[in-house]
Amino acid sequence: MTGYQSPAGFTDRIDAAGAVAASLSEILALTSRPDMISFAGGMPAPELFDADGISEAYARALTTPRRVLQYSTTEGDPLLRQAIAERLSRQGMATEPYELLITTGAQQALSLTCAALLLPGDVVLVEEPTYLVALQCFALAGARVAPVRCDGEGVDPSALDEAVRLHHPKLLYLGPTFHNPTGRTMSGSRRHAVASLAARYGFWIAEDDPYRELRYQGDAEPWIASLPEAADRTVLLGSLSKSIAPGLRLGWLRAPAGMRRACATVKGATDVHSSTVDQVAAAVYLTEGDMDGHLELVRRAYEERCDALLGGLVHSLPAGSAYNRPCGGMFLWARLPEGYDATEVLRRASGYGVAFVPGAPFFSGPADRRTMRLSFPTHPPSEIEEGLRRLRLAFEHDSTT
Ligand code: PMP
Repeated sequence: MTGYQSPAGFTDRIDAAGAVAASLSEILALTSRPDMISFAGGMPAPELFDADGISEAYARALTTPRRVLQYSTTEGDPLLRQAIAERLSRQGMATEPYELLITTGAQQALSLTCAALLLPGDVVLVEEPTYLVALQCFALAGARVAPVRCDGEGVDPSALDEAVRLHHPKLLYLGPTFHNPTGRTMSGSRRHAVASLAARYGFWIAEDDPYRELRYQGDAEPWIASLPEAADRTVLLGSLSKSIAPGLRLGWLRAPAGMRRACATVKGATDVHSSTVDQVAAAVYLTEGDMDGHLELVRRAYEERCDALLGGLVHSLPAGSAYNRPCGGMFLWARLPEGYDATEVLRRASGYGVAFVPGAPFFSGPADRRTMRLSFPTHPPSEIEEGLRRLRLAFEHDSTT
């Protein structure tokens, strides 16, 4: 964590959060060449946005300008809460509109949870590795973060049990479905094990779930928030960023009453409410647009891109590398053989016009410097193949190992 200059007068918490951001922006600065084929960004493919459908939804929302240009309630527009509650209920997470707080993306849902729950010095347990911006939120809250060991199925329950007894956490932060950065999905049995531990020890769970709608293969696992042991202590964080478009900046938080009210208090004091017109347009799109038909196109395109990456990776990474096969989402996680440092590899690869994110910044404990996150939605298969060719060249001409 170098290169971050503390601006005089700001708090240690700002410094800590700034240092997390700086560790990534230094890396991403390497990836800004215009002809770069990037496996680095965590962004949905813009050519796959349903631009016409969304424009139409805005046009319809604006047929009642005096309503949609006015202030609204902190909890969120009733139409949007209703539409999201219905969608969640159809998918197996029985939800009433009043149980939802509409937020400015899942990101705000997480910040509100932190502001409502965490006192400086409280411990947050996280998967190792975990979502980088969540680490920033916890730093801003002045929380202490402790990593929990994971394997291919997610959090290891015995490691979690041990970490809970050692650290007495207030919160466990999880990305159980198509996890950022690893792309992994937590198995059903692990979800139950985590829920039981939360009930036994009494900590809260933040179930961060923005990628759930991007499943290409297999059946959905249950939400931790839907399991009886954890239902009264889980905050479910959802988003329209990956299922519709991130520029809407709309998400939601589903939480037990006390927590929801606390988060609404924080939101009221933060931004009063999320944009009325955006919320109404999203509600129109959810209820009248072809969201499901469109999402299916997005899933198929992402699956094809994921397959293109998986198909060529074996020839592009050095022998002895390991990587997973995600069933959805946007990310794949790879580990290079002994002796490699993914940040050094990125320096070389960016010279060849291909980028990825080294895994190190996603670790809250000692970093595994051999790891890398590859995001596949950004480029069509032909460009992915070219990116893989460049990556192979970068390794072939690597003199650092
Ligand atoms: N959580 C995770 C794990 C994410 O990857 C992201 C987006 N990168 C977010 C939350 C924030 O998403 P949103 O656009 O809904 O704020």
